[in-house]
Amino acid sequence: MVEQTLSIIKPDSVRGQNIGNIVSLYEQAGLTVNNMKMLKLTQAQAESFYAIHSERPFFNDLVSFMISGPVVAIELEGDNAVLKHREIMGATNPAEADEGTIRKLYGASIDNNAVHGSDSLENAKIEIEFFFAS
Ligand code: ADP
Ligand code: MG
Repeated sequence: MVEQTLSIIKPDSVRGQNIGNIVSLYEQAGLTVNNMKMLKLTQAQAESFYAIHSERPFFNDLVSFMISGPVVAIELEGDNAVLKHREIMGATNPAEADEGTIRKLYGASIDNNAVHGSDSLENAKIEIEFFFAS
């Protein structure tokens, strides 16, 4: 099934000059860039985007990191895009991510882990709307 999913190239990857490398991995995997936007999230936007994690001990650090510099939000489309993107991203902790995944290649640690990816079709719709509401 053709699906859409949301990627966020996180501030560490922008600082590390890896926007192009990451977009290239998506395109090589057959995911099409439908929409793309560079922006700096406000604290309120980051808190809202990650509201599901608001009770977690790492929430404040996560929000601080996500507003520490610009990010690139990308709507990706392709067959099975949600799961395919999660596979290309790799595990949340780069130390546990498979060889060749984005987080293995470009993530430094669990809190500087290079990219965000929607975890379900339902959340993908919500997250795409968050960045690309028409
Ligand atoms: P994922 O991004 O793989 O979907 P989660 O949704 O569980 O992972 O967490 C969201 C983000 O919060 C992660 O990408 C990571 O940046 C951060 N995070 C998750 N777990 C931890 C943790 N134990 N310590 C620090 N940061 C974490
Ligand atoms: Mg998640």
